[in-house]
Amino acid sequence: MGIHKKFYLIRFFQKLAIPFYEQECWEWTGALNSDGYGAFWHGRNVNSHVLAYEIFKGTIPRDMHVLHGCDNRRCCNPEHLRLGTHAENMKDKVVRGRSWRGGSIRKAQHIIPVEVTRANL
Ligand SMILES: [Zn+2]
Repeated sequence: MGIHKKFYLIRFFQKLAIPFYEQECWEWTGALNSDGYGAFWHGRNVNSHVLAYEIFKGTIPRDMHVLHGCDNRRCCNPEHLRLGTHAENMKDKVVRGRSWRGGSIRKAQHIIPVEVTRANL
């Protein structure tokens, strides 16, 4: 592991509130994106829960999304995160009443994680 990698991990974990009971949500205490997800600067702005998934569970396939099982966007507990497709991601949001059904594209973009939006540009 290179020195730069270690530094970013230290920065990352400093922003994470890991509770006494590890199975509870690990809340991100740093900056948030406009969509309410934790934001972490790692060469570019990444979602903290996405980075947590990569750190603990491994690389995310390009067309997959990191979904929260706990519905807490600030949560970075890898045990609360799972991979899902874009469709599942959208379904989750509808089920939980987070989507703007019938809203404008501008609003819809708001709920898509930053890096996904950029990847699709
Ligand atoms: Zn959680």
